[in-house]
Amino acid sequence: HLEQPSILYLNGVSVSFDGFKALNSLSLILAPGELRAIIGPNGAGKTTMMDVITGKTRPDVGQVLFNNHIDLTQHDEAEIANMGVGRKFQKPTVIESLTVLENLELALQGGRKVYEAFFHRLSKAQKTRIDEILTLVDLSARAGELAGALSHGQKQWLEIGMLLIQGPELLLIDEPAAGMTDVETEKTAELFKAVSKQHSLVVVEHDMDFVRALQCKVTVLHEGRVLAEGSLDQVQKNQQVIEVYLGR
Ligand code: ADP
Repeated sequence: HLEQPSILYLNGVSVSFDGFKALNSLSLILAPGELRAIIGPNGAGKTTMMDVITGKTRPDVGQVLFNNHIDLTQHDEAEIANMGVGRKFQKPTVIESLTVLENLELALQGGRKVYEAFFHRLSKAQKTRIDEILTLVDLSARAGELAGALSHGQKQWLEIGMLLIQGPELLLIDEPAAGMTDVETEKTAELFKAVSKQHSLVVVEHDMDFVRALQCKVTVLHEGRVLAEGSLDQVQKNQQVIEVYLGR
């Protein structure tokens, strides 16, 4: 247990693949409501870290405490998702042949099958929630259009809306700015800053302009552990970080 309240606490987490340590006694603390960017060169362990948090990969040793007391390493992926840990992969998974609104309605109804979901009447509170999310992700004007007609950035925002509507406490997002235009990238940073008022967010990202725009604490991973932590300016001045990125 930690003295300070935390939404996520990785404590000495190690993961080996055939003797190779993808995570090497990794420790990381995320405060409730924190927005955190994770950077690091290819192979640093970023994906493995996300896999451990979401229960896709079980660590050899170490704890992953959620909300200070639930050890996620003792739960499977479905249980962890139900506890309020959402994950967004790089590729959007919206249903292109449904409208923006229908995608959100479906997400709101969790595991319900598509044909069941459409015969189910939404409550007033649910409709209000959908309106709030549409406003947040700036898609109110596109609600009736097919998701397939959206730009790449808008599809990503819709999918983030679909995750948020399920009310996660912690959201893990993989390279959101990849493939986005500069304007979309800037807008996504603003969206995440707004989202982090109600949810904790961990964002893995390579795009340093995007990371800068997030104005949050940055963790640099390298060889499965934390190399540096601080503001982007601080970590970019760190000699070890410079060496790792320049490839020594
Ligand atoms: P990142 O996301 O930072 O690029 P990864 O977490 O994907 O890093 O990978 C960390 C290291 O672990 C890499 O060297 C990768 O080759 C290795 N690795 C990841 N997953 C597996 C796996 N399933 N089997 C074997 N090696 C893996």
